[in-house]
Amino acid sequence: MTPFTYVRAGNTADALRLGAGGAAVYLGGGTNLVDLMRETVARPGTLVDVTGLSNTIDETDGGGLLIGAAVRNTALAEHRAVRTRYPVLARAILAGASAQIRNMATVGGNLLQRTRCSYFYDTDGSRCNKRAPGTGCDALQGINRNHAILGASAMCVATHPSDMCVALAALDATVHLQGGRGARTMPFTDLHRLPVDHPEIDTVLEPGELITAVELPPLEFAKTSTYRKVRDRASYAFALVSVAAALKLDGDRIEDVRIGLGGVAHKPWRASKAEAHLRHGPATEQAFRAAALAELADAHPLRDNGFKIELVTRTLIAVLGDLAGAAA
Ligand SMILES: Cc1cc2nc3c(=O)[nH]c(=O)nc-3n(C[C@H](O)[C@H](O)[C@H](O)COP(=O)(O)OP(=O)(O)OC[C@H]3O[C@@H](n4cnc5c(N)ncnc54)[C@H](O)[C@@H]3O)c2cc1C
Ligand code: SF4
Repeated sequence: MTPFTYVRAGNTADALRLGAGGAAVYLGGGTNLVDLMRETVARPGTLVDVTGLSNTIDETDGGGLLIGAAVRNTALAEHRAVRTRYPVLARAILAGASAQIRNMATVGGNLLQRTRCSYFYDTDGSRCNKRAPGTGCDALQGINRNHAILGASAMCVATHPSDMCVALAALDATVHLQGGRGARTMPFTDLHRLPVDHPEIDTVLEPGELITAVELPPLEFAKTSTYRKVRDRASYAFALVSVAAALKLDGDRIEDVRIGLGGVAHKPWRASKAEAHLRHGPATEQAFRAAALAELADAHPLRDNGFKIELVTRTLIAVLGDLAGAAA
């Protein structure tokens, strides 16, 4: 066992002081980080427990919700306003992990959980640019059924594993951050990076920067939203592909739409091209298929994951079809 120090932050200022400089690592529910420590993928010298920070879900003046970073995944999925106004978020959370893990996992930790690429976890001989920069990527020529088809690079083809994040990408959420240089906010879709030539860096967070909250904007039509996850087993499995979507109809035409895709890229993928294709057009299966193909035009499948193109297409058609039925 690699020795480490554990400290518990009483408030945000405390956490920032203890986490300053980036040598310490924040600890949420520990459901990902502790696994990474057991596998010696992560070897933090100090853990700063941030589960004592904000864990409330509050209405914003603008009509949205402000969700503290220490809110547990279960509490968020069960919150009445989330279930009724943003069902896509509740369903995405409930599609992930197990009840026990969701009881422990925090919002901040869910956002920053690391990829499930098996070569990333295999410290006994696999080459992985994300774990050990510059060593290579065994997934490129290896078993890459679960890997990315969009936005990947020759350095890394990993996918982001979170279900919740796919819903947050679709909902235009905002992330609240606090670091040595003060507080800032950013669109959720800007938080995670594509791998490019530095796959070891998952996000644009600065060293020691803390996620303090996630904000959902008011989005009236998000009440007609849902999440569908396609996976190898009915539970305890990460998404092969997933779709988060919200739909607003005006008669039989699409007035507005939001789409997030999971299991396809290094970050939760906002399907802006598909959305643009659909807005002000007919809500038909043909239009849904054309939108999926527009989004996937730049896809680069690997040896084992070409099936994801058809799987994303069919899942998107099914989800939008269901929402069109519910919105009509
Ligand atoms: C068996 C198993 C199955 C799973 N299946 C799924 C699944 O199907 N779908 C899914 O989405 N997830 C799944 N998960 C992953 C699970 O959702 C994550 O482990 C969990 O969300 C991480 O939250 P946590 O609070 O435990 O984070 P931790 O493990 O404590 O931390 C994760 C990362 O976040 C950082 N961090 C935590 N809080 C903050 C903060 N406030 N500011 C800055 N950094 C912070 C930590 O430093 C660490 O790098 C599964 C996990 C397991 C073990
Ligand atoms: S895909 Fe990324 S995480 Fe997986 S082995 Fe390659 S570099 Fe590592």
